[in-house]
Amino acid sequence: MKHIFITGGVVSSLGKGLTSAAIGMIFERMGRKVSMQKLDPYINVDPGTMSPYQHGEVYVTDDGSETDLDLGHYERFTHCRITKHSNYTTGKIYHEVISKERRGDYLGRTVQVIPHITDAIKEAIRRGADDGTDIAITEIGGTVGDIESLPFLEAIRQFSLDIGRKNCLFIHLTLLPFLRASGEIKTKPSQQSVGKLREIGITPDVLICRTERPMTPEMRDKLSLFCNVEKKAVIEERDVDFSIYEVPVNLVREGLHDILVEFAGLPAGTRPDFSGWNEMLESARNPEHEVEIAICGKYLQLDDAYKSHYEALAHAGFHARTRVRIRKVQAESLGQLEPGRAFSGVDGVLVPGGFGERGFEGKVQAAAWARETGTPFLGICYGMQAAVVEFARNAAGLDGATTTEFRPDAEHPVISLMEEQKQIRNLGGTMRLGAFACRLATDTRIAECYGRTEIEERHRHRYEFNNAYRDRLRSAGLILSGVNPELDLVETIEVRDHPFFIGVQYHPEFRSRPDAAHPLFREFIRAALLRRFPEEVPDAASAAGGGIAG
Ligand code: GLN
Repeated sequence: MKHIFITGGVVSSLGKGLTSAAIGMIFERMGRKVSMQKLDPYINVDPGTMSPYQHGEVYVTDDGSETDLDLGHYERFTHCRITKHSNYTTGKIYHEVISKERRGDYLGRTVQVIPHITDAIKEAIRRGADDGTDIAITEIGGTVGDIESLPFLEAIRQFSLDIGRKNCLFIHLTLLPFLRASGEIKTKPSQQSVGKLREIGITPDVLICRTERPMTPEMRDKLSLFCNVEKKAVIEERDVDFSIYEVPVNLVREGLHDILVEFAGLPAGTRPDFSGWNEMLESARNPEHEVEIAICGKYLQLDDAYKSHYEALAHAGFHARTRVRIRKVQAESLGQLEPGRAFSGVDGVLVPGGFGERGFEGKVQAAAWARETGTPFLGICYGMQAAVVEFARNAAGLDGATTTEFRPDAEHPVISLMEEQKQIRNLGGTMRLGAFACRLATDTRIAECYGRTEIEERHRHRYEFNNAYRDRLRSAGLILSGVNPELDLVETIEVRDHPFFIGVQYHPEFRSRPDAAHPLFREFIRAALLRRFPEEVPDAASAAGGGIAG
């Protein structure tokens, strides 16, 4: 097994996660098995308790860990298995070491950053790679030069000695800023950032340069000379024109694969096979239709907060050769703003997940508007809970129906905690997390979307559909279309006589891929297309296929 370590320099938000995912994909498409992992230097044990404004979306894995959103990129670009070992934070590493110290495992020794913390990091790197992996890719979060990433850098330096330097490839992603005043791209910050790495004892083998303008041959020479990196290993990564999914193809155009081929010991001249992917890009580049989807949530200022939702909508659009325009509707604005005005002209309404009281009533109004006007609706997690509350109040006549999340004394607690959850006090890691089975009833819209009745999807929530209300809601016309067979919990709902009104307690967005849109998003966009073009159903929209949720 060989290891690749990806570090970042100069600034954060360089797209290190995307670049790492793209590298993983290039290897996969040259027939190698990859594993992917991210090490994050912050002290939270996981991002589960962090605000979306701090951290963006929390990405949930099949085995129920709450991780960094970069792992979403890994899954969208590659087929590697993402687990709880795929994301370690400083907090998680220290937590392990301190627990061992409390147990007395260190037998009276002084516990120190080197070697105990660095050993724990190296152990985490080993756990991150599955058996049979050819190439294990580890992305180091943060920016080189920060105090907090030092133990990680020290650990990967040691790791490269442990397994042999030739079995490691250090890739440094850096920024070449463009100075408008002088009309120049500058290399100095990159030189200094590589200098910082070399102080620690790491000499990068590859320099990937993020830039808005093309790099000149002189710049490449200069970077090679001052950073001590071979010329052919100075790779330009220019800003993409239209889609992040171009990144792997662009990196190959710049010759990155040649270096990866050499490192992995593949036959010279091996090239990645982008079939399928190129067709997806082609369809993404040339949409034939357009629909507008309203997202009614509360973290709309920050694109990262609903990252996987936006991606999944885009994937469904690629599938149907449709550009999906997004209208962001602040849930709490629906107090003052008429839903009819806020949603006027949209072809579908998506209510994403969320927590807490703020904005909840707006989500309920969004569901009501979509149900009454026959507009395609997809409610995810809190979005489904809002749809159940709406239905209970307006169709089943249960005034005062709500969730006990913020109304513990609700008159009709249609969404509530299961008995066994009521004792839980800690907030971190105590939700229903990870993949759970769900059985769909035949003859439902949702079973038609998936094309089967046994599915498995990822969850991240505390509250549930309250089974005490099953009969009352069902007799008012709510279809309880999917149930967890073991826990007997309602996982999906839909309403009758509506072109598309589906709520799911789970998060389908985590399992959508650009070249295999998730069936629910695919059918949601198809329903939106049908609403916009009722006369002529576009061909692409009716094409079957896609979908990986399994
Ligand atoms: N707040 C809700 C719950 O905890 C929904 C969570 C979510 O949307 N992810 O059950």
